[in-house]
Amino acid sequence: MVTARLAGFRSVRGHGAAVALLRRAIENDRVSSVYLFAGPAGVGKDRVAHALAQVMNCRAPAPDGDACGACDLCDKIARGVHPDVIVLQRDLKDPPEDSPKDSPKLREENAKLRAMRREDLAEADLKQNITVEQVEELLARMPFRPHEAATRWVIFRDAERLQPAAANKLLKTLEEPPRGSHFVLVSAKPSSLLPTIRSRCQLVHFGLLEAGDVAAVLRESAAELGVDLAHLEELVSLGDGSVGRALEFKNRERLKERQALVDEILAALRAGAPGLFVAIGEKAREYAQAGEKARGYDALMDRAQEANRQDLDTVLLLLQRHFRNEAMQHANVRPRNAAVNAARADIVRETQSMLDGSSNLNVQLVIEAMLVRLREARA
Ligand SMILES: [Zn+2]
Repeated sequence: MVTARLAGFRSVRGHGAAVALLRRAIENDRVSSVYLFAGPAGVGKDRVAHALAQVMNCRAPAPDGDACGACDLCDKIARGVHPDVIVLQRDLKDPPEDSPKDSPKLREENAKLRAMRREDLAEADLKQNITVEQVEELLARMPFRPHEAATRWVIFRDAERLQPAAANKLLKTLEEPPRGSHFVLVSAKPSSLLPTIRSRCQLVHFGLLEAGDVAAVLRESAAELGVDLAHLEELVSLGDGSVGRALEFKNRERLKERQALVDEILAALRAGAPGLFVAIGEKAREYAQAGEKARGYDALMDRAQEANRQDLDTVLLLLQRHFRNEAMQHANVRPRNAAVNAARADIVRETQSMLDGSSNLNVQLVIEAMLVRLREARA
């Protein structure tokens, strides 16, 4: 997400190593034409890409080489309206069309909608991939010089969403980028990128943020992000190093709903076989025939569908946190219990990273396997 406050690298929270690497590249005049910014979702990779574009184009750089944050170029880049900083991301399924008859206000609203963080939109409103047409349109612009900046920056959000055909169309350009053009592929799932694409990128790693940095970002942008500061501490804790993840929990209603599902899973675990776990696999059908419903199971599987993946991710996070807290609380008093909970936390974490690492998994099977393993977890 890019807020109006973006003013070069100094306005980036955390990511010291990544920023230092980029600064060195600039100082040594060795800025790569193709970067892959890889790291967890919601930590500010996109923001660093925009800060880099500012630093490379600023009209009045600071003595330390950072962008001024105040000149017209810095300002336009910060507001996301610079014509030479192009963001490619999944399109809306039904994008608003501008018409000359539209009022400037409507046109501005349309532009805002088109530029919105994809995380803030419903999956159902988005195309599944960055399409060939989008890449073709981009490539058609490449032969022309940048409008006003010294360098042009093309930023791919969720680059793993590049359709294979679209990625293939890009290959040649990534191999021999036009002079003054730079590409930044931003991805939380870099292993899902085509190897031919990955091999052309200079990799920059991003890690999770410190809790203090997550809190600072949420506080600074509370109004624009719709964060209720009364729940800041809880959000930071749930975010677990990611601003994006913290924002996942800002809606109290949804948080309650997810917590209820987690409670149901836990109740089924405590009760042993009956309830949720009986519904796994074949049993689900028997249940359906008997007219009984294993609600927790259905709700969890519903979240396993593509459209609810983000929801599933947060449910798993809540589940993992629960087991980890239990393990900590029981550590001295009931060591066996603590060990079972620690094992269960690990099982959920493994499931999370499995789902994060690949987009070609049968999510339902992965979740079913997790439920079985949770039930069977031993100290
Ligand atoms: Zn500037």
